[in-house]
Amino acid sequence: MTNTVAENDTKFFGHPRGLATLFFTEMWERFSYYGMRALLILFMVAPVASGGLGFDKTKAGAIYGLYTGSVYLMCLPGGWIADRILGPRQAVLFGGILIACGHVSLFLPSVNTFYLGLLLIVMGTGLLKPNVSALVGSLYSKEDIRKDSGFSLFYMGINTGATFAPIFCGYVGQRVNWHWGFGLAALGMFAGLVQFYLGAKYFPELKPAPASVTENAAVLKKWGSLAAILLLVVGGLHFAGVIELTAVGISNTFGILLFLSVVVSFGGLLLFGDWNKEERMRLWVVLILFLAACIFWSLFEQAGSTLNLFAEEHTLNEIFGIGFPASWMQFVQPASLIIFSPVFAALWFKLGDKGPSTPMKFVAGLVCVGLSFFLMAAGARTLGPGIKASAMYLIGCYVLHAIGEVCLSPVGLSAMTRLAPRNLVGLMMGLWFMASSVGNFISGRVAGLYEGMPIPELFTIVGMVGMVAALFLLFMTKPIIRLMGGVR
Ligand code: GLN
Repeated sequence: MTNTVAENDTKFFGHPRGLATLFFTEMWERFSYYGMRALLILFMVAPVASGGLGFDKTKAGAIYGLYTGSVYLMCLPGGWIADRILGPRQAVLFGGILIACGHVSLFLPSVNTFYLGLLLIVMGTGLLKPNVSALVGSLYSKEDIRKDSGFSLFYMGINTGATFAPIFCGYVGQRVNWHWGFGLAALGMFAGLVQFYLGAKYFPELKPAPASVTENAAVLKKWGSLAAILLLVVGGLHFAGVIELTAVGISNTFGILLFLSVVVSFGGLLLFGDWNKEERMRLWVVLILFLAACIFWSLFEQAGSTLNLFAEEHTLNEIFGIGFPASWMQFVQPASLIIFSPVFAALWFKLGDKGPSTPMKFVAGLVCVGLSFFLMAAGARTLGPGIKASAMYLIGCYVLHAIGEVCLSPVGLSAMTRLAPRNLVGLMMGLWFMASSVGNFISGRVAGLYEGMPIPELFTIVGMVGMVAALFLLFMTKPIIRLMGGVR
């Protein structure tokens, strides 16, 4: 990619002007994503008589997991398409158009347009999400110490969208009409598109690095064989009566696909890529950070699954004596993040070279989500017949999630752009979001255990997983820093 870095551009809070465009584009995209997500499962389980789809919870949950997992998995081909064919600017534009069409499709009242809408959003987000982040990275040189704080600011945009989305789309969708709620999400994405189109001149036009015919053929062969194997396995299991091609069966199949994608992507990159020693070492770091991120998101994304159930069924949803609907809890995490983002951005900026290393920030993120589940286990222990847990447990839990996310997620995005071998920033972003896909999928599976075991135990085990992962990473910090070879 050709890169014109705006070293001296400090027009947006000390950052390049292009960051403002990317900040608002992503803010609107996330507004549409989280606005629709706040309604999705409620809409699916709502009775047909009240405008919903009337699905049972198992089917709705399976579709929900499949959808949220797919959204992030599609970032992988989305990153590749930007690197090799479209360039990130075009990819973001096309992605945004597809997402807006998806929400419009959900606005139409039919089951077919519902599925079509989900499909369009999955494809569109795959194109947009990794590449808008890659564009943020492109505003800074590898040495520019503003990069981490730039990503933190960008992350504030994400969460501004995520904060207002459940309030507005949730209210319109639940109180006025489901489809109007989806329509509002579509309007948000349109606003983001206009903003991106008008502001595109503020960041460098990155040219894709077209692959050779042989390389394209190799990629096609790889994905083609994978698809063929998958079809054979799924078909075989289906005819042998092991799996059923219901929503749940398809969700299981997705789990297999996801696992294979992780193995094939990292296996292919590490074993067959033509890298020099330094690039290969950095790819190992990407793998370790990826695994840590999978665990982090598996805990974090339970906001939409187990923790949401806990809010609905076991929490006294009132504060200072004022009651509120359980779904409004979803706003605590992004809102807290907005408060913490500038604090951490300033802190990283001020500490500069003396700040904690990338792996140490990951350790901190894992500790926060781990602790949050210990707090929830304590809350669950206060339950009794007719006694609900105080809302403060969930609020405290989401505040810890927000601090954890600030430590890990923007830093992870930034690290991917710095650890990426030549021209593969988009692909690295795709791999990064694959960790979110794994996390979303696992968090759905954990929700399946919610009814079957005592809640304090479940939350304690989940918390332990986070803490053990943090401990592992802590011991590996020094070797990771060595492998990073000068990239902090
Ligand atoms: N909340 C962040 C976002 O929406 C990260 C989500 C994720 O990667 N799982 O971008």
